[in-house]
Amino acid sequence: MKYVIALDAGTTSVRAFVYDIAAKAFVHRAVQEIGQSFPHPGWVEQDADEIYYKCAYVLNDCIRFAGAENVAGVGITNQRETVVMWNRETGEPVCPAIGWQCRRTGAWCAALDEETKALVHARTGLVPDAYFSASKIVWNFQHIACVKELLRAGKLCAGTIDSYLIFKFTEGRSFVTDVTNASRTMLFNVHAMQWDEELLHRFRIPRGILAEVRDSDAHMGEIDVGGRRIPIAGVAGDQQAALFGQACLNAGEGKITYGTGLFLLFHTGAECIASESGLVTTAACRVRGKKAYALEGSSFHAGSGIKWLRDKLGLLSSAAESEALAQSVPDTGGVFFVPAFTGLGAPYWAPDARGLFAGITQSTGRAELVRAVLESIAYSARDLADCMQRDSGVPLASVRCDGGASANDFLMQFQADVLGKPVDRPVERESTALGAAFLCMLALGLTDEAEIASLRRSEKIFFPDPSVRERRETSYRQYCMAVRRALL
Ligand code: ADP
Repeated sequence: MKYVIALDAGTTSVRAFVYDIAAKAFVHRAVQEIGQSFPHPGWVEQDADEIYYKCAYVLNDCIRFAGAENVAGVGITNQRETVVMWNRETGEPVCPAIGWQCRRTGAWCAALDEETKALVHARTGLVPDAYFSASKIVWNFQHIACVKELLRAGKLCAGTIDSYLIFKFTEGRSFVTDVTNASRTMLFNVHAMQWDEELLHRFRIPRGILAEVRDSDAHMGEIDVGGRRIPIAGVAGDQQAALFGQACLNAGEGKITYGTGLFLLFHTGAECIASESGLVTTAACRVRGKKAYALEGSSFHAGSGIKWLRDKLGLLSSAAESEALAQSVPDTGGVFFVPAFTGLGAPYWAPDARGLFAGITQSTGRAELVRAVLESIAYSARDLADCMQRDSGVPLASVRCDGGASANDFLMQFQADVLGKPVDRPVERESTALGAAFLCMLALGLTDEAEIASLRRSEKIFFPDPSVRERRETSYRQYCMAVRRALL
């Protein structure tokens, strides 16, 4: 068998990749865009049926490319937290999927009593928030009549995207998820690595509607392709899969994903560290039965700031143009940008803060504004990295990067200078899909962790420039002052 396939079910697109085991590289890919709907301000919904059919389409495309007889298995990675509720007998979704960005349950979360909030934090490692799955499940119970009927009839399933896709691909034979996805539901005890009975009881969510939780390198079921059964093996949520794909397998290794938002994950080994700084504790990929944890910090906006400059202000014709423009000036001339389009995430957790440009003068031009937006991405990452180091007590040695905006050399160099640490960009920047491919190969005994660590190849390492160290520290402090203004 020459190939494994990685299926990446993201928020705005689903993609499948054929990984050539001998060549150690992706050799084919297929993409389909998927829709989101916003029925009310702050609400985000998706059609689980559409997600499934488009996943099946890209998967079939890859199987056709590879030949079913050459495919050893399929690994899955997916957008996390989003909730699907479906009929166990027919596999049909019974209501729209509630997306991870959906804020409809914000008030419900805020109204939880202090004891329950503390219990959520202690048991799940998360900050009680509408972002995580539990309140989305509760909302469906409270508002969708047929959900209650199916529950009474014992035919209801609730799960994250991975569990829905596996259920559909196996025609209902497997109702399973993995620890990384379970750890984003606000119902999973990260210490015991199982559903938390007390939280389920408090939220009145019956255990029977949830999937069985398996290791990330587990066999999950089999897909029937023209009489041949291809195993689904290896599943993880997108950020944990990216951590794995970047070969961050040990304590102290971390990665930053520069996509629409910014996600910093830092492996803490077998130690489950509670954050004092507003980060969350989460399960990292569990392979060979070994408990593994990560600290995670996210900033809602990174590349989206560049998209805003392009689409709303018309200051750029393409995202890539931001690099040359930023480099065309020596600095921003004292201009700072705070990317608080929808409030600020970790470590500020200020949903009502809004974005600002500070320090504008008559000499401020397009290049300065664009550069300030790029610099703000690096400063946000510095905020999160400082929290990580404080919480874990482990100094960051270097950081691995991926995501669309990691293509920007100016940003990566500036990031290295602001962190004072090397930033290491891999040859293969599809870390999420790579993580799913690695997990699949591990599950099937086609590789081991030592080989995975050796498979990652650096394309370029950005080293901090000591001559600008002091200047970058000063400007980071000025950025922090601008953030304080945005918080007012
Ligand atoms: P996601 O997976 O979150 O949809 P991607 O990892 O595909 O995001 O990254 C897309 C984002 O990266 C967009 O917001 C875009 O503005 C930004 N981006 C892409 N290329 C560049 C670049 N060269 N410089 C800065 N930002 C970029």
